[in-house]
Amino acid sequence: MSDIFSDKEGGLEAPTRSPVKWKEESFLNKEEFLEESERIYDVCHTCRRCVSLCESFPTLFDLIDESETFELDSVDNKNFQKVVDECYMCDLCYQTKCPYVPPHPWAIDFPHLMLRGKAISYQEKNKTFLKRARDKILTSTDQLGKIAKLPLVDITYKGISSSPKAKKILSSITGIHSDAPWPKFEEAVEEYIPDKITDIKKADITSGKVAVFAGCYCRNNETTLANDLLKVLEHNGVEAKMMTGDRCCGMPKLDLGDLDSVEHAMKHNSPLLLKEIENDYDIISLVPSCVLMFKQELPLLFEENKDLQRIKDHIFDPFEYLSIRESNGLMNKEFITPLGNITYQAACHQRVQNIGPKTKELLELIPNTEVKTIERCSGHDGTYAVKKETHHNSVKIAKPVVKKVDDSEPDYLTSDCPLAAKQIEHVSKKKLITAHPISLIKKAYGVK
Ligand code: SF4
Ligand code: SF4
Ligand code: SF4
Repeated sequence: MSDIFSDKEGGLEAPTRSPVKWKEESFLNKEEFLEESERIYDVCHTCRRCVSLCESFPTLFDLIDESETFELDSVDNKNFQKVVDECYMCDLCYQTKCPYVPPHPWAIDFPHLMLRGKAISYQEKNKTFLKRARDKILTSTDQLGKIAKLPLVDITYKGISSSPKAKKILSSITGIHSDAPWPKFEEAVEEYIPDKITDIKKADITSGKVAVFAGCYCRNNETTLANDLLKVLEHNGVEAKMMTGDRCCGMPKLDLGDLDSVEHAMKHNSPLLLKEIENDYDIISLVPSCVLMFKQELPLLFEENKDLQRIKDHIFDPFEYLSIRESNGLMNKEFITPLGNITYQAACHQRVQNIGPKTKELLELIPNTEVKTIERCSGHDGTYAVKKETHHNSVKIAKPVVKKVDDSEPDYLTSDCPLAAKQIEHVSKKKLITAHPISLIKKAYGVK
């Protein structure tokens, strides 16, 4: 057990978080990392609250339980990397479970320990060449989208990705599990241009003007989603437009431990975001991970960057934004289409923003609509669901959620995270109708 004295079982004060000092030499020092891993793993061993959250914790506890002494001291620290490889940085252990996070003297920050392990592994290039190439391609989302949509490449890609036989043959080269659905790429659609709003109303911390950060997912994989958001905002008297020139926020690179690429993406996006904010626009992104990146991860990685602190205060989840407008009497509640039974999976990266169940609350404003919430991870988490070595575990994580969804026989399955909804749809044996919650709100308004 940790030798840092603590006179109470868990922290009672509001959690705080220390910045990630990734540019300091000690961050990538393997010995110091292993020492810190031992300290944290020992606390986790006696606590075990997080056992059902993901595969990192069961991997750690199995290593301990199968060791000679049933204690951490007889676990070979070479195996610690197995724990790191199962973490997909959802942050749930820190934000929803751990009583020992700072300011508790034990200062447990499990996700940031994992991040450090990922950064060391990335630096040491300790995966095979093919796996490193796969990881690089999968996490270069915008470049991948551009290439996959090139003439001829698009037809070839579609052909292979829809052929189980071809996927199986290629699996040993691509490192993508043959049962995992390959990402679908959609052509860009014509951008919806909302009407100009003449009477822009500020409410609380919202300016009533929004620039949408599409993120690579809405740009490449589900290209009609951003238009749905523009229409919902317009219907609520908010002046809305798409941002231009922005790139992927860097979340997949963070998950890989490639922090230089995260910095590169941050340096590209932050001046663009800042320019919008200076023109009195708030920023909204439809994917919870993009919002989390700017609200939490980047400010912790680049503590000294004042621009990021400013962006953090002006970026919103769409339902957080609409909810603030609703509290100020500015939400349009003229819904004309009831939606029946909605099963709603609360996405991890939205839950850890600590904004409360805003999506559920707003969907419940629609008459004759019932919302059943499932607060469990779907196990997609970007690349985790498609990689050969982790696909099996991702399906295992999804199964309890899928069972609840299937049992609820919903008219619609929804999640703020489009990838989570896709994962549930993929694992379920039933024919589910999935839609993003913002598309459901648009539908309930009767907006085309
Ligand atoms: S951040 Fe998420 S995936 Fe990583 S260890 Fe914590 S709960 Fe598991
Ligand atoms: S992260 Fe915290 S809550 Fe989770 S097992 Fe470790 S000590 Fe317990
Ligand atoms: S978090 Fe957003 S921008 Fe980043 S990879 Fe995911 S969808 Fe793309």
